[in-house]
Amino acid sequence: MPKQRKPNFPGPRNFNSGLSLHVLIFLALLFVQVGCAKQMGQHLCAVDECFGQDMWQESIDRIATHNFPEEQYYGKVYSDQLSNAWTTNDNNVNISEDLLTKLVYMGDAYIASVTAHEIAHIRSHHYSRKASLSHVSSFDSQDTGPFSYRARKHKARLSRQNELEADQLAVQYMENAGYKKEDYLNFLKWMKSNLKDAAPSDLATHPPIQLRIKRIEKLQPFASEKE
Ligand SMILES: [Zn+2]
Repeated sequence: MPKQRKPNFPGPRNFNSGLSLHVLIFLALLFVQVGCAKQMGQHLCAVDECFGQDMWQESIDRIATHNFPEEQYYGKVYSDQLSNAWTTNDNNVNISEDLLTKLVYMGDAYIASVTAHEIAHIRSHHYSRKASLSHVSSFDSQDTGPFSYRARKHKARLSRQNELEADQLAVQYMENAGYKKEDYLNFLKWMKSNLKDAAPSDLATHPPIQLRIKRIEKLQPFASEKE
């Protein structure tokens, strides 16, 4: 009598290897996620952990004191190799250690340009998950998210308008805090030659820096308007 063939059910061994595969996939995904989070600048620096943290908060306080003395804004520095500054839906003014290090090297007015610009976003409720100063177009092109192309295009146009508005307000806040329009212009020019500019496109969330420079050059000093 021929031996009956063993039924081809997944035995405990198969089950275990299936489970291991799931665990492996899970671990791989977790690894990728942690990797991305790290790359996206999710590691918040502890007190005195990162370079320039004190100067970042001092600059925020100076802009706030001369413009919105009743408000408190909190400087957050993230350990990140990308040059970014961004705001979220609160009074946190965020920057990557990489960008902050460059700004500290350039001087006080450069730091103030970024704090003023980011506070302008907060005051105008331009909430953005991560408004990058430098890598905007590359982030956006990867963001396939729930938005249709048309909706994303609309969102990007609004974001570009917000950037121009934040630039104008930043100049005003800086002048109130004792800086000059030229300080902000110097910062934009420095950014143009030192950070990656967003390629002009319907989905770019930032206008080309050259356009931002032109707009600010045309802007009358707010201090002289008051006279
Ligand atoms: Zn901005």
